[in-house]
Amino acid sequence: MSDELQSQWVHCPVCRSKTRIRVYKDTVLLNFPLFCPKCKRERNVSIIQQKMVVYDEPDA
Ligand SMILES: [Zn+2]
Repeated sequence: MSDELQSQWVHCPVCRSKTRIRVYKDTVLLNFPLFCPKCKRERNVSIIQQKMVVYDEPDA
């Protein structure tokens, strides 16, 4: 019963497929370039307590 071991895969905010990044409940990512292997794009996100905030990014 160790909560620390419950890591979660981070899903792409665009296509929702699984990325290669996992976070724990106490993981904090700030302005993290999350790469999606499906979109082959990076999105800047912040993840705090497994909740994701996607930064607004002008789409070219
Ligand atoms: Zn994606």
